[in-house]
Amino acid sequence: MAERAPESLQEKIEERLQYYEDLGIRLFYRDRATTASAASFAPTVSVQVPTPAFQESPLPKPAAKPFPPKVAAAAPPPRIAPVVAPSGPSLFESVDKIKDDMLPKIREDIGDCTRCKLHKGRNKIVFGDGSPKAELVFIGEGPGADEDYQGLPFVGRAGKLLTQMIEAMGLQRKDVYICNVVKCRPPENRAPEPDEVATCSPYLLRHIDVIRPEVIVCLGAVAAKTLLATTRGISQFRGEWLEWRGRKLMATYHPAYLLRNPNAKGEVWKDLQKVMAELGLQPPKKSKSS
Ligand code: SF4
Repeated sequence: MAERAPESLQEKIEERLQYYEDLGIRLFYRDRATTASAASFAPTVSVQVPTPAFQESPLPKPAAKPFPPKVAAAAPPPRIAPVVAPSGPSLFESVDKIKDDMLPKIREDIGDCTRCKLHKGRNKIVFGDGSPKAELVFIGEGPGADEDYQGLPFVGRAGKLLTQMIEAMGLQRKDVYICNVVKCRPPENRAPEPDEVATCSPYLLRHIDVIRPEVIVCLGAVAAKTLLATTRGISQFRGEWLEWRGRKLMATYHPAYLLRNPNAKGEVWKDLQKVMAELGLQPPKKSKSS
């Protein structure tokens, strides 16, 4: 007769399942490679916790071809490996299984979230803002003081610069969707820590799956590293077309970085021009992008 897992382990599994249920993830896989000793516990439900997005994964050699223009018939191999682990299920696959997901449902699932320690210092959860049908999604790192106060992403100084960038592309903020890797402000505006990213990023992934944008622009290293599961510096792949779960992804510098380093604006503008070409956008006449 199969041995049951100790009660404490069963409770932990139950808690973990509840956590994923809260996120809307209800489909789990059993790892065929489970060791004999682990299998012998024979818990009521066997859970393989998916690899978090922030974990490292080696990138292919940079010699791979970039994406072709939209009109090209055949898709070239991606420059950067998808975040999905080479074998076994990933969190992203699980998120894909959510049927009929919608932004209000995601917001409802988040609730008055206390799932990571960032909840302790926040004023408001910053969910995301913009068109739920946007072709272009910008992803930042996390809310700052202004965002925390207003409950909206990118409304401070860096946000104003992002708005200018969007308008220079011939768009309005309402035409795109803007969100962050974590939805609560990290204290002292520090970068979100890996456990916080791991806890909050499933919501981000659900955002993207609901919106289904053609292009994702990662603003800064945290967003890029979270989605691409890489530890490479952003300067190594900034401005290149990458592939992420079948979508085109461009990583560029965060507007806050541009406020400190205005000389980098030209580089970012070049990146955004590539995005514009991809989406068939024309800059407005008399654009005063700087
Ligand atoms: S950052 Fe995300 S996971 Fe953490 S408390 Fe806020 S909403 Fe919840």
